Amino acid sequence: MVVISVLNPKGGSGKTTLTTNLAQALHLRGSKVLIVDSDPQGSARDWHAASAANPLPLVSLDRANNIKTLSSMIGSYDHIVLDGAAKLEDIIAAAIKVSDFILIPVQPSPYDIWAASDLVDFIKARQEVTDGSPKAAFVITRHIEGTRLGDDVRDALDEYGLPVLSTAITQRQVYPQTASEGRTVFEGGNTKAHDEIDALANEVIGMLA
Ligand code: ADP
Ligand code: MG
Repeated sequence: MVVISVLNPKGGSGKTTLTTNLAQALHLRGSKVLIVDSDPQGSARDWHAASAANPLPLVSLDRANNIKTLSSMIGSYDHIVLDGAAKLEDIIAAAIKVSDFILIPVQPSPYDIWAASDLVDFIKARQEVTDGSPKAAFVITRHIEGTRLGDDVRDALDEYGLPVLSTAITQRQVYPQTASEGRTVFEGGNTKAHDEIDALANEVIGMLA
């Protein structure tokens, strides 16, 4: 079982969008996937409830104590994808402890990049006591198509000393559109969106190997 947590205390960074789409990408590759909604706001849970045909199981664990026991509670999945909470340090700290991999979505704006600082400190503190676990990487989200993704964004993220995935997620209408139906971009008929989520899944799987 591999636990991938999508964390960033900043709301609107694209955590829930990435969680649901990455979970579906892994499911389509034949993996047994569980989504954990750790956000008391319950956006992943609402997404899940919006479609009766949703193939992915989901549990809400929005207390640090529940998250701490995640691996003993839920053993029979290949991948658990955990949707992170906003601004709840104990939940985020518990998620970091049970994770094998942390994906940090950030929008390409200086405010969002600066706001990731505390999360990076939390993750690094954990990596120091465990010899590098969990692995972690940034993924740039909501990039506006047709605009150059400035080197300054990647350079600023590089300063944190964590890798930045080469796949960036673009701002596309298909993400909220499919989300409102409890679906993912794999059912949304937008090939560019499938391709970028697939590329993201490839990179994450590659880093887990
Ligand atoms: P978080 O979980 O970090 O708060 P969400 O995934 O809920 O972030 O995204 C915040 C808002 O932005 C939602 O309305 C979502 O539909 C929208 N959104 C997220 N990613 C994209 C994207 N790549 N393209 C278009 N809209 C997006
Ligand atoms: Mg969310």
